[in-house]
Amino acid sequence: MGDTVQQFFAVKAKIAAAEREAGREAGAVTLVAVSKTFDAADIRPVIEAGQRVFGENRVQEAQGKWPDLKEAFADIELHLIGPLQSNKAREAVALFDVIETVDREKIAAELAKETIRQGRAPKLYVQVNTGSEPQKAGIEPREAVAFVKRCREVHGLAIEGLMCIPPADENPGPHFALLEKLAREAGVAKLSMGMSGDYETAIAFGATSVRVGSAIFGSR
Ligand SMILES: *Cc1c(COP(=O)(O)O)cnc(C)c1O
Repeated sequence: MGDTVQQFFAVKAKIAAAEREAGREAGAVTLVAVSKTFDAADIRPVIEAGQRVFGENRVQEAQGKWPDLKEAFADIELHLIGPLQSNKAREAVALFDVIETVDREKIAAELAKETIRQGRAPKLYVQVNTGSEPQKAGIEPREAVAFVKRCREVHGLAIEGLMCIPPADENPGPHFALLEKLAREAGVAKLSMGMSGDYETAIAFGATSVRVGSAIFGSR
């Protein structure tokens, strides 16, 4: 077994342990394996070991490796976890099964248009900038609930979840708690939170999916 596959199984085991520890149902948390910067040769063994849900942060990079892999493995679920430019909405809707980074009106409008044009509706999450960091994408926490409502009522989009990336230098717990509270207020069921360094904490705070890259694939 290669290192990557071994690390993949170790992460799966830690997720299962964190679910038990938090009193969550077994399998309640989906692992999104973040494969950005790694190529198909690195990804394939993880697919062959049983993983089906992957995350990429760039549309163009994903277009280079995922169409072939998706053709070879029909049940792959690909998540966009990086910022989406409105001029990439067409490509994103065509390739991704879940777009986790809806964070402004213009993107919502483009996604609505492309969903209709292509007859293909990726699942959508709204990204919340829980730390209000100026350099980070995501809607401000105080605007999040109203934005979800506008996505639904103005743009006809079914928003299923919220996503956040806590500030790198802060305790993530309060950010996860804030995202959970906003999701309840907005009436969305899914919570994408937790990365290699804090996914077990995120599971304790109610994450329904964790986005884990380097703990599986190694450092980038
Ligand atoms: C890269 C990335 C991850 C994975 O980060 P790791 O620390 O390598 O697990 C998760 N979420 C987003 C949005 C990312 O860009």
